[in-house]
Amino acid sequence: MLLSKTLVRPVSRNADTPDDRAALQTAADLIRRGGLVVFPTETVYGLGANGLDENAARAIYAAKGRPQNNPLILHLSDASEIPLYCDVPEKIKPLLEKLTSLMPAPLTVILPAKPVVPKTITAGLPNVAVRVPTSKIARELIRLAGVPIAAPSANLSGKPSPTCARHVLQDMDGRADMVLDGGDCTYGVESTIITLCEEFPTLLRPGGVTFEQLDGLLGEVHMSHAVLESLKPGEAVLSPGMMYKHYAPARPVELIKGDRAKGIAYVNECAKEQAAAVLCYDADAPQIKAKAVLHAGGDDNTGAYAARIFTMLRDTDSLDVDKVYAFLPKDTSGISLAVYNRLLRAAGFHVKEF
Ligand code: AMP
Ligand code: MG
Repeated sequence: MLLSKTLVRPVSRNADTPDDRAALQTAADLIRRGGLVVFPTETVYGLGANGLDENAARAIYAAKGRPQNNPLILHLSDASEIPLYCDVPEKIKPLLEKLTSLMPAPLTVILPAKPVVPKTITAGLPNVAVRVPTSKIARELIRLAGVPIAAPSANLSGKPSPTCARHVLQDMDGRADMVLDGGDCTYGVESTIITLCEEFPTLLRPGGVTFEQLDGLLGEVHMSHAVLESLKPGEAVLSPGMMYKHYAPARPVELIKGDRAKGIAYVNECAKEQAAAVLCYDADAPQIKAKAVLHAGGDDNTGAYAARIFTMLRDTDSLDVDKVYAFLPKDTSGISLAVYNRLLRAAGFHVKEF
């Protein structure tokens, strides 16, 4: 850390007031000097550093306790910068053009890395992950810094990703130089990751840009089996992040799948025996009898459940409960695929199906 204390500054969504500009300039200067700045994006908060500076990138791993072999995403202010950091073979150019037509977006693309990208960013892989965030605050910070910003989610490794500054400070106070507080994140789950380095474009992590959208745009998109299944010990993975325990709150999590009425009856029975926190859709909350009921969204508003899922998981840490039960969405379409993917990992694949 360059500073002795973490500075916290509010920034409005449009990043256009004089106070916003002053805060962003301070943050950009810190990035240029090798510091760590937490900034909001439309997905989750990121812990950012100069993406061309090995030492600054190393500080990200140290602040998070992140395994060294889990690479970082390079955040760019515009898709036109992609060729500065990636070698794009002729045969994948048409696919990349289609993907860049969506940008800025909650979408990360894996491409062959140019030598300018430090090994600390790629964790030694030949490929690099790049993304152009929708968030004006994020893009303005990158533009003012004048360098790509390497940023994983701004949580301690293994914990749920932060979607508001309060959650960032629980993990990063004293570990980052500055936090830009831009309010709640819109999507609440990390970016979709697609690789163009395999025989077919392959979805590695679902997010705000949906599988259906990508499949419609690119023609044929494969889905890594690790999106919805646990990995076998020692199995080779396309995305190292899939190997690790992720998104887990302090208490054990059990997921409830299938028939909603039967699931509610089961949870109510369990909650008689133990102090439980239950995560569910708004419409089901009144029927649940547990110590704490946290709810958001519904079958007709799956985006709202996604936007709150990490907040609800994290908020269970400050409740006096023994166990967390979380209802899975009724299917894996749209953004619900991302909710499924995150909840399965938060629960260590512990699912009760009705
Ligand atoms: P986070 O920024 O914490 O959401 O994590 C970034 C995710 O991107 C991790 O799951 C990484 O495994 C994945 N990722 C980053 N760079 C690469 C890469 N070069 N190849 C494959 N996956 C990557
Ligand atoms: Mg993360």
